[in-house]
Amino acid sequence: MSTMQAVQIPKHGDSSVLAYVSVPKPSPKPDQVLIKVAYAGVNFIDTYQRSGLYPQVLPFILGREGSGEIVELGSDVKDLKVGDRVAFLGPSSYAEYDAVSTASVAKLPDAVNLEMGAALLLQGLTAWSLVRQAYNVQKGDWILVHAAAGGVGLLLCQMCKVLGANVIGTTSTDAKAQLAKENGADHVVDYSKGYDSLVEKVNELTGGKGVHVVYDGVGAATFDASLKVVRRLGTVVSFGNASGSVPPVDIMRLAEKNIRLMRTTLFKYITTREEFDSLSAELLQLVAENKLDFAIHKVYPIQDVKQAHDDLERRKTTGKLLLKL
Ligand code: NDP
Repeated sequence: MSTMQAVQIPKHGDSSVLAYVSVPKPSPKPDQVLIKVAYAGVNFIDTYQRSGLYPQVLPFILGREGSGEIVELGSDVKDLKVGDRVAFLGPSSYAEYDAVSTASVAKLPDAVNLEMGAALLLQGLTAWSLVRQAYNVQKGDWILVHAAAGGVGLLLCQMCKVLGANVIGTTSTDAKAQLAKENGADHVVDYSKGYDSLVEKVNELTGGKGVHVVYDGVGAATFDASLKVVRRLGTVVSFGNASGSVPPVDIMRLAEKNIRLMRTTLFKYITTREEFDSLSAELLQLVAENKLDFAIHKVYPIQDVKQAHDDLERRKTTGKLLLKL
């Protein structure tokens, strides 16, 4: 049996459980393609799957997205070919090879290199689904983006500007605030010392009304503040747990302002090939029109995966982290 190198976890835990090991090389099923992975994208979900917040069947190969070249086709695959350069959402991209359903593979335009390709899909589709489907951002809306200098955050800021909205971002350092501004945030509040100044600033900017929507990927730490700064009839979209899961919510709190509360995941917006193709075509169109900049924080050699997870979890990063296979 042929083998390959991959990052696998034998048990859930902190970054010390990450192991670069030899495992069987996968074969594509009829509706899959085998991809020689060039770069794997690092996402917060990888840390949840590693820690056990999102439990996995063990041992487990991490990685939900990547880029590379197709090296083998499943027997039913017609519209892709060996040699195609692709970006993909896959089950195990921290590996030399990944077998991926064609329902989550996008061919890369010539202008997009493999490094950028690996940075595009998971955070890009997440951000685009948030501004189009979770809450359909309108020109002139007031938007609050938490962790505005993060991977998803920077893209949300850019997309909300493209859509003509007013963007307020939160970050924990001056350098992150500067980056968020360069990516479209009109105002940035440092939330690292508490949330009173955030509530004050949102009230001041919106004439006491609050924002139309809060995009909250920080979770436990920011949830209360998100409910405070949203306006009457506004929307809070919770989509992540960077600071921990949001505790159970008393539904009556929503009645204070008739708040619409959502908890979304990208994967439930792209359950079919058609849904994936339609959302990714819109994203790639924005890329082709040079309307999005995917800021790459750092490309780590795959052997340095522990460092990448530590940097992400310790809030040391901005934008996208990649692993080079
Ligand atoms: P980021 O690059 O945004 O990193 C997380 C950021 O969250 C940090 O840089 C930090 O920014 C902020 N943060 C605030 N509190 C904490 C804390 N206690 N520990 C760590 N970070 C903290 O990551 P991603 O762009 O990969 O993901 C952002 C969020 O989006 C995550 O919660 C992720 O799970 C979620 N997500 C959800 C998806 C979905 O389908 N629902 C898909 C993709 C991502 P600062 O220092 O400025 O506070």
